[in-house]
Amino acid sequence: MTSRAAIVDRALALYEDLDFGSVRAWCAEEGRKAAGYLPVYAPREIIHAVGMLPVGIHGGRDRLEIIRGDAFFQSYICHLPRSVIELLQSGRLDMLSAMLFPSTCDVIRNLSGMWQVLRPNLYTRYCDVPQVLEAGTGGRFWRQELETLLHGLAEVAGVTPDVEALRRSNAVYNEVRQVIRALYAARRDTPWRLPTEELYLVLRAGEVLPPEAFLQMARDYLAATAADDARPRDRVRVIVAGAFCEQPPLGLIKTIERAGCYIVDDDFLLGNRLLTADVPLDGDPLSALADTFLRHAMPSSILYEHAPDGKKRLMAQRVADARADGIIFAAPSFCDPALLDRPMLRAGAEAADIPCIAFQYSENTGQFQQFREQAGTFSDSIKLWGGQA
Ligand code: SF4
Repeated sequence: MTSRAAIVDRALALYEDLDFGSVRAWCAEEGRKAAGYLPVYAPREIIHAVGMLPVGIHGGRDRLEIIRGDAFFQSYICHLPRSVIELLQSGRLDMLSAMLFPSTCDVIRNLSGMWQVLRPNLYTRYCDVPQVLEAGTGGRFWRQELETLLHGLAEVAGVTPDVEALRRSNAVYNEVRQVIRALYAARRDTPWRLPTEELYLVLRAGEVLPPEAFLQMARDYLAATAADDARPRDRVRVIVAGAFCEQPPLGLIKTIERAGCYIVDDDFLLGNRLLTADVPLDGDPLSALADTFLRHAMPSSILYEHAPDGKKRLMAQRVADARADGIIFAAPSFCDPALLDRPMLRAGAEAADIPCIAFQYSENTGQFQQFREQAGTFSDSIKLWGGQA
């Protein structure tokens, strides 16, 4: 088993590598190809089933100077798309043979159009996830979309779509989600053993490693943290909500934890956990994958909420499940899905007397003092007055 320090070091090296060296090395072998996907949810099973490597694309953080990306977008949108264009135009994504754009918001829709203009010969697919969660409409639509994607990617990969291969891929990603659920449960129960700054890096490694390699890494990390004899500290338990698409800088996660908070639930890399149940392995694997999305997609800002007041009730439920003391709403600046949901989520939380604070970040934020002060004051106020500062 690899040591904990070695796992975290490897995950950090993968996180910092904006040239995607591990993906390039994987693609160097004869006949191997990679397909990128943006946040939030992409059906990675389909990419894997045609023998391609799924690669999560998350922007260049503060390590990438935006020169070409700014020419494509107005100033009042989030940072992610300009960063992705910069990665593309600088040649860092040239190893990709396909790119998927999940239907998160208009920004991603526009980005997919720009991508097609810039790379007209690359397979590009805008993945419009269903908003009507009913088998006869949304279910039928999503299965058709998945089938179209399977055939399109199979052509890129030069293989014939194979039902058994897709069933095996469904099984592999069931295991991936199981180990991630186990990691999240372990952090919720013993956050002093499993700091989010490490957990996040391990999950980020899963965005570029083949799932089989990630499974080994995640299991080794889980076992290593279980053996940790760290003791609980005097920190408050918080949920960090809203960071589901453009990812916060690692420094922000560290800052929240070092300001006296244990993060016990979050929205980071949400696509990894969006399906909350295993995909059944019997029957038609495409239908099984589509049906699992319909029945078991986690409520989030990328999905329409059908239940009246569902968004208002959501945070109280999450706080109860995570045994949290409060919520930090942390969303990317100009993120419509997160910031339009925030008033409803926050109103519901405050109606349930849950302490909350809110701030906005950008993936290239490099200064964390103001976040440290806010999170530190929040933590102290909960300790002293249960958040009623
Ligand atoms: S961060 Fe928000 S606004 Fe930006 S691409 Fe993602 S969902 Fe859309």
